[in-house]
Amino acid sequence: MDLDLEKALDEPVDLSHQFDVTSQRLERDDVLSLSPVSFSGHLRKADTGFVLDGQLSFDGTTTCARCLKPVSFRRSGPVSWVFAPSHEKNAVGEGEEVELSARDLDIVWYDDFVVPFDPLIDEQVLLELPMKALCRDDCRGLCPMCGSDRNVAACTCAEPTDDRWSALKALRPR
Ligand SMILES: [Zn+2]
Ligand SMILES: [Zn+2]
Repeated sequence: MDLDLEKALDEPVDLSHQFDVTSQRLERDDVLSLSPVSFSGHLRKADTGFVLDGQLSFDGTTTCARCLKPVSFRRSGPVSWVFAPSHEKNAVGEGEEVELSARDLDIVWYDDFVVPFDPLIDEQVLLELPMKALCRDDCRGLCPMCGSDRNVAACTCAEPTDDRWSALKALRPR
């Protein structure tokens, strides 16, 4: 979906849309499933550009970082973007450059009133996806030796010894 900023020149417009975001496109292999991402909000004219405020919500399933069991999540919260014409960026004097670059991150610069919305949604979803989710806080994970789920049963594997240390000990003078 594209945003047509021009539509908000005279008065604010209401927007709502469902986006199909795939975990492949986000390059997050740990995300097993993702619902359509729904956005609803208002686009309005600001002093030098436009502001889009709204609510973003989606849910899905990711994998436990320790035992790989599916973990479901749900996200719903406010989101906003500021759109400013690129000529404003170029009009900035030399001295102000450093200060502006810090704020740049939150500004979407446009040359044309038609702005692709999907990349902005992808970016926001990526920010909000859980990182290293756990099925429960004290998940004991999989045994690195035999691969069994240590939440289900304790295995009899010995803790792996790190051979690099014994190599170091051999080097140490007596
Ligand atoms: Zn787990
Ligand atoms: Zn084991």
